[in-house]
Amino acid sequence: MKVMVPVKRVVDHNVKIRVKSDGSGVDLAHVKMAMNPFDEIAVEEAVRLKEAGIATEIVVVSIGPAQAQDVLRSALAIGADRAILVKSDTMPEPLAVAKLLREVAAREGPGLILLGKQAIDDDANQTGQMLSALLGWSQATFASHIAVADGVADVTREVDGGLQLIRVVLPAVISVDLRLNEPRYASLPNIMKAKKKPLEEVDADSLGVDVGPRLTVLTTEEPKVREPGVRLGSAAELVGKLKEAAGIL
Ligand code: AMP
Repeated sequence: MKVMVPVKRVVDHNVKIRVKSDGSGVDLAHVKMAMNPFDEIAVEEAVRLKEAGIATEIVVVSIGPAQAQDVLRSALAIGADRAILVKSDTMPEPLAVAKLLREVAAREGPGLILLGKQAIDDDANQTGQMLSALLGWSQATFASHIAVADGVADVTREVDGGLQLIRVVLPAVISVDLRLNEPRYASLPNIMKAKKKPLEEVDADSLGVDVGPRLTVLTTEEPKVREPGVRLGSAAELVGKLKEAAGIL
């Protein structure tokens, strides 16, 4: 079974982001970029499926500018076999990403698509759900455990208040949650090997998908700076503050 893993290039999760002075968006100039952390978990899971003899080939796909090659090479170093870069100068919105991924899936014919539950830049949590609807495939979201056998996947999902176990028929789209696994570090020999693995480039325009934006960003703001806390001497002082300063009591 072929497994396809979409991976997005996003601002590295350790970077403190800055909003552009005109409020038009986040400043990406000279900012460290990396693979979306949830997508690393999806790649790791695909590699484990291959090690278990369930997956036969892992194809990673990124949609974005030429620099997205970096995250594809990182995925190849973790253990993916082949990469496809769908080149687009602008970063398409989730619906356009889902449509482009549908075209790639139609060409590749994977039995399973594993992707992150959300990209940490747009926090949309939409692409997997839209992709499964467009393909007409089963979907399971927020997976914290996946067992694949005999044409089905048993997926444990993280839901409010507990865990839910569902069975989906393959082919399926599964979005992965934080606790599914801990991605391995790529070893130096594997980083070197990844440089020689195939990376195909496809122009987004050639896939016949309308990637035009449907949303208009009106403004982007930094979160308000929180007032520092104060240490109080007694419960009576706290009650006084709640009455006078906060007007709660
Ligand atoms: P989102 O719906 O934007 O929160 O993204 C959910 C998941 O969709 C991500 O974790 C990725 O696996 C995938 N995805 C989103 N955008 C892209 C992209 N530009 N290229 C490849 N995969 C993407």
